[in-house]
Amino acid sequence: MHEAEFTYFNWEKFSEEEWHLCPPVVAVGGDGAMYDIGFQNLSRALMTGMPVKILVVDTQVYSNTGGQACTSSFIGQVADMSPYGKKDHGKKEIRKEISVIGMAHRSAFVAQSAISSPTHLIESYIDGLNSRRPALFNIYAVCPPEHGVGDDMAVERSKLAVESRAYPLFRYDPDQGTTFSECVSLEGNPEMDAEWPSYTLAYKEEDGTEQKMELPMTFADFALGEGRFAKQFRKAPPDTWNDEGGNSMVLLADFLKLDADGRDGKFPYIWAVDKKQRLMRVIVSAELVNSCEERQQFWQQLKDIAGLNTPEVDEKAIADRARAELLGQISASLANFGAGVAQASSPASSAAKAGETPALQGDAVYIDTPECTACDECTSIAPKVFAYNSDKKSTVINPQGAKFADIVKAAEKCTAGCLHPGTPWNMAEPNVEKLIARAAKYN
Ligand code: SF4
Repeated sequence: MHEAEFTYFNWEKFSEEEWHLCPPVVAVGGDGAMYDIGFQNLSRALMTGMPVKILVVDTQVYSNTGGQACTSSFIGQVADMSPYGKKDHGKKEIRKEISVIGMAHRSAFVAQSAISSPTHLIESYIDGLNSRRPALFNIYAVCPPEHGVGDDMAVERSKLAVESRAYPLFRYDPDQGTTFSECVSLEGNPEMDAEWPSYTLAYKEEDGTEQKMELPMTFADFALGEGRFAKQFRKAPPDTWNDEGGNSMVLLADFLKLDADGRDGKFPYIWAVDKKQRLMRVIVSAELVNSCEERQQFWQQLKDIAGLNTPEVDEKAIADRARAELLGQISASLANFGAGVAQASSPASSAAKAGETPALQGDAVYIDTPECTACDECTSIAPKVFAYNSDKKSTVINPQGAKFADIVKAAEKCTAGCLHPGTPWNMAEPNVEKLIARAAKYN
């Protein structure tokens, strides 16, 4: 009776419930296998339309076969086949971005993530597994011997890779819309509007006094902690520190903003601390300057794909306009109400009568700070709104430092349930009604 049905029956006819009963099969390979040697097969797999799941353990080097350079290696990285010598100073070519290539297939779910961002990693992984499409997971992987870091450094080095834009978090989900910008998300990356995210460097003065400095986290600041880039740095003795005139030193982030003439005769440096936590300046090689520029360029390209490089929006003007419109509506309803009930004596109508402007009230975001478990979610999603205090508990530093959408997202991700988003401070924000509904659960 069912022969005709089963003649052409395949997985695509599974109901949603049946689909979720199927155990996903994940193929795992290194970057050497997937970026280089097996690249054509990876590409073909992503074009099959089959729910093939592929996880790339991206160590940026051929870890299994002795540490040869890969197309995933960074500029300036020293490895077999990209040696450091008189002529060559590490890898010269830019890094291949397999996640963007995966996106270019336009038919596969793609996620680029790191173990230091567990929410992003796990959510993306589950979404990719549940998708009826092929999925490519490109995961930053620390290879201690080849990267020249300690065996216990995987999470910390992954975190710095994300924070320095060495390895931006990225998602492409073709089911989210039609255009690339609708389908791409850079959510989870720190300080998305800044050229480089910032970090605090703690150091000690000669007399032992503890001090702190806010600094940009450039790719070089990340690279300084890894043996594979060690040859690209030179410690500058304090008696050579020179901030003016010929041969002067310029902080790398400022150096990168100079044109070729402006850079002439200048030495880019980054701040760091020695084992005794004393401040030191480290001169950065030309190769690492190239690498920083290349990472900046890639970040801008990603933002462009995600539709985040839009012309500057005058948020204040939009907020003022929305406020004026809202006040107009309030005045109109007060006038209508007053026409019917001349004796109205509410504070608002009294204010209107007195010619005062009623204040537009919004409940500001707040945190039950003692309950914070320092999970890093809110401080990563909206670092201009949330920051840790000296007890490593999150606090609100500027309730209007991000879009209300980000504040709501932080509340949704807060593992302690102690973040209360309040109500929007800018009623002109897109989808504000939906955001208010989402926020209500956490207020
Ligand atoms: S999301 Fe919640 S628990 Fe995590 S750091 Fe922020 S306030 Fe603390």
